[in-house]
Amino acid sequence: MTLYLKNALYLDYQSLDFQQTGLAVEEGPQGGLRLIKAVPPLPERQAGDRVIDCRGKLVTRSFVCGHHHIYSALSRGMPPSPVVPANFAEVLEHVWWRLDKCLDNQMTEASALFAAMGCAKRGVTFIIDHHASPFQIRGSLETIAQAFERVGVGHLLCYEISDRDGPQKAQDGLDEHDDYLAGGRPALVGLHASFTVGDETLKKSVDLARKYQTGLHIHVAEAQSDQEDCLARHQLRVAQRLHKFGVLDQPHSILGHCVHLDEHEKKLVAESRAWVVQSCESNQNNNVGLTGYGWTPRVMLGVDGMHNDMIRSAQAAYLAGQSSEGISPAALYARFRAAHRYLAETGAPGDGDNNLVIMNYQNPTPLHRDNFPGHFAFGFSGSDVETVVSQGRVIVENGRLITEDEESLVAYAREQARRLWDKMSGGL
Ligand SMILES: [Zn+2]
Repeated sequence: MTLYLKNALYLDYQSLDFQQTGLAVEEGPQGGLRLIKAVPPLPERQAGDRVIDCRGKLVTRSFVCGHHHIYSALSRGMPPSPVVPANFAEVLEHVWWRLDKCLDNQMTEASALFAAMGCAKRGVTFIIDHHASPFQIRGSLETIAQAFERVGVGHLLCYEISDRDGPQKAQDGLDEHDDYLAGGRPALVGLHASFTVGDETLKKSVDLARKYQTGLHIHVAEAQSDQEDCLARHQLRVAQRLHKFGVLDQPHSILGHCVHLDEHEKKLVAESRAWVVQSCESNQNNNVGLTGYGWTPRVMLGVDGMHNDMIRSAQAAYLAGQSSEGISPAALYARFRAAHRYLAETGAPGDGDNNLVIMNYQNPTPLHRDNFPGHFAFGFSGSDVETVVSQGRVIVENGRLITEDEESLVAYAREQARRLWDKMSGGL
């Protein structure tokens, strides 16, 4: 089936060339995109072909989230922890680990559906997720994958393996990846962070990634305390420890945050194959500090579970980057788009040319190739996204999800949030 977009102002996301054109979009994970002068007349079209008139609208490549935690989707407005966290370690212990230990696969499903819907409506058609549900690990990755596919977004998933809840939970995390990858699913091998992963679990995780020729996905030096723990227990800094175990040598590895790396570690990471993902709003929320990322050519952006809007995330990175690295709008835009390069390297299906957003962007000033990054950094908004094409299929139309019933998804999320919050307060 072909989707025809007529009268589009098409922006090539790489060259930043604008042209008034028609587009023919083929469906499927390998589907392509062609620029056409005119939509073929009705007799020449196939049954099921669709035409959308994009007059006055901007059409460009849709977006990728480089680091998400759908497990936090039901946390919004939840009752505060009885203990007020004083530092990052306590935020994990009293907020996120209190929540993730209560998640079952139904709650995970509701979280994944709601997060995927939120992403889709903001033009995000591919999510790289890092999941945690320590008391229902098994089946969690397939649950998320199926939820994402119901909404219609692509995915590269992992579970955050950790020794924080004992060796059996670490093994369950390994087994969950093994089963999921053996089924042919694209995935990374997730690890929580150096300070909750012992040497044996780290080694087994790298071995598993090697078995499936994939990368690892781990939080790195998010807070200074991760470095302090690593030096005290392993006499190494975090990136040195990951290098020693081979994490940095695996293709497609993702290192989250990297806020507290020293110059030697930055060089190690920059000279390795590993990618870095920046989530500065989360860093601000957790008060762990901010840093610049100009030292590596492989950096992309994520939301770290804060929300589902990658344009918002990019604009936050632009503002935070003024003090930490003096980033330009053009460099920010390149970082926002780097995730496509990462996904092309992995070969994970679902982020081809047939992923598009149709935006109602009203520019009060001239818009052209040379000044586009300024429009992106200051003018774009996720709410400008009207219609979203994922793998050649319309999944959001005029601001509404059309692959699933929005009201039912929200009702399901609320029902599961009530179960989760009851369980967290000891009610179940
Ligand atoms: Zn994270």
